[in-house]
Amino acid sequence: AVPISITTSVARAAKLGVLVADASVLERANKIDTLVFDKTGTLTIGKPYIVEILDLTVSNLNAHLDTNGDRIFLEQQSSEKLITEVSWLTEAVSLETGSSHPLALAMKSALEERNHILTSRGLPQPINSMTSEAFENAPGQGIRGVIADKRYVIGNASWLRDNQVDMSLYDTITHQLKTYEQQGSTLIYFSKDNVLTAIFIIQDTLQDSAKNLLHTLSQSFEIWLLTGDNQHNADFIAKSLGLSNVIAEVKPVEKAKHIEYLQSKGQKVAMIGDGINDAPALAIAELSIAMGEGSDIAKQSADYILLKNDLTKLPEIFNLAKQVEKNMK
Ligand code: ADP
Ligand code: MG
Repeated sequence: AVPISITTSVARAAKLGVLVADASVLERANKIDTLVFDKTGTLTIGKPYIVEILDLTVSNLNAHLDTNGDRIFLEQQSSEKLITEVSWLTEAVSLETGSSHPLALAMKSALEERNHILTSRGLPQPINSMTSEAFENAPGQGIRGVIADKRYVIGNASWLRDNQVDMSLYDTITHQLKTYEQQGSTLIYFSKDNVLTAIFIIQDTLQDSAKNLLHTLSQSFEIWLLTGDNQHNADFIAKSLGLSNVIAEVKPVEKAKHIEYLQSKGQKVAMIGDGINDAPALAIAELSIAMGEGSDIAKQSADYILLKNDLTKLPEIFNLAKQVEKNMK
């Protein structure tokens, strides 16, 4: 039989907005000394927004990359540029069909937004859905697939490199791209038939509660940030949160490997993540915590689910676990 103190604590946890998969996990929570956080969708609100699209097919690239802050509002953008962007976004969104990744959703809303503006200008909407073939999603890296005999590779820079996309143009503009990354942007590289064609510049926002929360938690736990996103952005986020342990550009298995490494030093690790790319790490951690708005796979392998992505519920799990232990004695 399950001790009464545990069943009540499960009910109490639910009231606190925390879904506990199994009552016995509260005991594990008491042993945790290290917290590993994912970034996108976990520390950030996970509603990324495409602030700009760089067109790498135009010769006057520098005009584009002028980051003096005078960003052209979408409403003022020429219809010609909007139509070009719509065509790329349509291709990308068609390949992301079925992906619930926050970045896929960002592309979808960027497409809708542009179509809306074109319609308001009395222009016909371009085609915005295409049939993709042989599409493949590499969690934490990107996607690839074929539409009308054209081969698309979309995702982070190393994913494109791994797929033999010509990145010589990237090499000549890395310096400018770094400026975006250092301001906390995520970059999605879009290539068509091995040619780097466009870069989607994306901004996400940190959860309001993240900074104070991590400050409080850092008094009781060692804290790590592990992300598949670029190093400069990861450093920017870590700095805003006062974190010093950060590893960027990690693939899903590498997240799990790092946890294994911490465990080999005797640390007891809780992993907090939202995505499919966090699943291996969630599986190996002593305690796994998934974001409620995250992917189903993350939630299925989690001990706890934070409803509404509410990070402030995190300390309550550990407090609750402590209370239960006390009651059992
Ligand atoms: P995090 O570990 O912070 O949650 P992800 O692992 O989800 O970040 O993504 C890492 C990077 O891989 C992203 O910044 C993006 O460039 C690329 N990426 C991941 N998933 C996708 C996708 N579905 N479509 C396009 N790019 C993606
Ligand atoms: Mg994530």
